[in-house]
Amino acid sequence: MNDTNAKETFSFQTEVGQLLDIVAGSLYSNREIFLRELVSNASDACDKLRYETLTNPSLAESSDEFSISLNVEKKAKTLTVSDNGIGMSHDDLLETLGTIARSGTGAFLEALKSNGKDGLGLIGKFGVGFYSAFMVADRVDVLTRKAGEEKAWQWSSDGKGEFTIEPGERDASGTTVILHLKKDAKEFLEENRIRQIINTYSEHISFPVKLGDDTLNSASAIWTRTPKDITEEQHTEFYHHTSNAFDKPWHVMHNRVEGAVNHTSLLYIPSVAPFDLLDADRKSHVKLYVNRVFISDTTKDLIPTYLRFLRGIVDSQDLSLNVSREMLQSDPKLAKIKTSITKKVLGELKKKANKAPEEYAEFWTNFGAVLKEGLIEDPALRDRILEICRFSSTQSSELTSLADYVGRCKDGQEAIYYMAGEDASKIVQSPHLEGYKAKGIEVLLLSDPVDEFWLQHVAEFEGKPFKSVTRGAADLDKIAKDENEEDGKQDAETRDIAELIACIKLELGDAIKDVRPSKRLTDSPVCLIADDGDMDVNLERILKRHGQLQQGMPRVLELNPDHAIIMKLAERAKGGDAASDDLLKDAAHLLLDQARIADGEVPSDPAAFARRLGSVMENAL
Ligand code: ADP
Ligand code: MG
Repeated sequence: MNDTNAKETFSFQTEVGQLLDIVAGSLYSNREIFLRELVSNASDACDKLRYETLTNPSLAESSDEFSISLNVEKKAKTLTVSDNGIGMSHDDLLETLGTIARSGTGAFLEALKSNGKDGLGLIGKFGVGFYSAFMVADRVDVLTRKAGEEKAWQWSSDGKGEFTIEPGERDASGTTVILHLKKDAKEFLEENRIRQIINTYSEHISFPVKLGDDTLNSASAIWTRTPKDITEEQHTEFYHHTSNAFDKPWHVMHNRVEGAVNHTSLLYIPSVAPFDLLDADRKSHVKLYVNRVFISDTTKDLIPTYLRFLRGIVDSQDLSLNVSREMLQSDPKLAKIKTSITKKVLGELKKKANKAPEEYAEFWTNFGAVLKEGLIEDPALRDRILEICRFSSTQSSELTSLADYVGRCKDGQEAIYYMAGEDASKIVQSPHLEGYKAKGIEVLLLSDPVDEFWLQHVAEFEGKPFKSVTRGAADLDKIAKDENEEDGKQDAETRDIAELIACIKLELGDAIKDVRPSKRLTDSPVCLIADDGDMDVNLERILKRHGQLQQGMPRVLELNPDHAIIMKLAERAKGGDAASDDLLKDAAHLLLDQARIADGEVPSDPAAFARRLGSVMENAL
């Protein structure tokens, strides 16, 4: 609380200054959106006060209904946006109208940094909230009084680096934003122009927006309307308002459920991944309303975390208005709503996936990694989630479903093969895939970190277990041969490389768990695999990177008995005295390092690697 009666002057946070330079100098053709931003803020302020009065009725100072009033003074060239909402204290003003409080604005600045000069195009894309007032005004006054406080304050700025705060007069709580319009912005003094803007951008606002005695909007909550009466534009505007988003929704879901717990939901799936999607707190952003009264936009347990990309609202008249947010949270009715919404959303996604696979691929690229968390967290709906999962694979350039994969399985193929790694385009080059490719056996390419984790929870799909191609023996023999498969592979096992294996084992010692002939290699001489029952290679890599694992386990080195290098080394190991053959010893280490490098890793001793490579080359020359 600040008790000074003098006028104080403050500087804008540096970032705000930069922002205002762009905004103020803009001849941005779409600058009418400033009104959308101010009306949106006024509506938020009314929502907030309405919620506060539920638990603290004394805050409701007058019996006036919540509303937003627009006022034009042609002579003074001012446009005023006024609300009877929550208002701002001295500290609120300092914190919010001098800094970058808003996430959308932060994102704008980030984009600006990486984008060089084109600030104007970006304003339209991100919206800059309150500061957009300076696109049309060369001075802005904010007269405000916080509900429950005595003092009113006036904030003023010309948008040029500084703002002032001084005591003001205001009869009731709420906020009045007075725009002193720029010379070239007189159009915003025209009533028709204002009507048209409100029509375009603010029809969804659920409080009356008034100009004189006229109410310009229908002032009913958009989700209470008949779905077919809501236009695409209105959805987009409401989505922007309610989500701080600026893209077009990828999908709109508007449902009324009558049953155990009546509720209406109006949910949007963004077409652009929100920037906080992968934040550790995994917050949901769907707003909860009780009988059209806004309660909270951070309700836990309204939406499962694996659907946290959803935006929009849920409204139920069956929840109690007179309890705190915290108590609402533990209301069993909320859990029922959650289940109903979750099933509905998964059902809608399934429809989309079947009807419009290309569009669904866009969704999947944005949110697939998040949705897959549900395979771990929601065992009850696991099968439904698995059904709508999509994967890259060695066989098709498009994403594939598991059902389609299983449909393409070869005779005798008993597992769903996958290879997990960090980057699908690199995995596809891996030696581990050679034998599968040669046999025409499809392998799923998994490159989201979450893949390693759900695979530990999901044992199988349609009776087929998931099997990593980098773990355990490759059981390729049992699977039907492709027509174009070469025949030489057959006697791979019979070819005798026992001496070579013994010699490499002896030389590498503890660095490896075992050395075995490979059935999965066709072109490369070696690869490293995890033994059956050991931790898969990629999982180990992820855990190490996150400091959850210090030391990896020794791997199995597989040799390709058909490879020229291996055949020649095998010859050499058979003859003579292997134990004192330096070339064989160097080769053992080089083969291990070669396998590591093919996996995108580094030799364990780079200096020794370089020395051995050098000596082998010298001998060859
Ligand atoms: P956002 O609305 O996304 O938070 P804005 O830049 O539009 O960002 O507004 C910044 C903040 O200023 C708001 O979050 C709110 O705290 C405060 N504010 C703006 N206008 C009002 C208003 N009419 N009544 C109360 N607070 C307001
Ligand atoms: Mg705003």
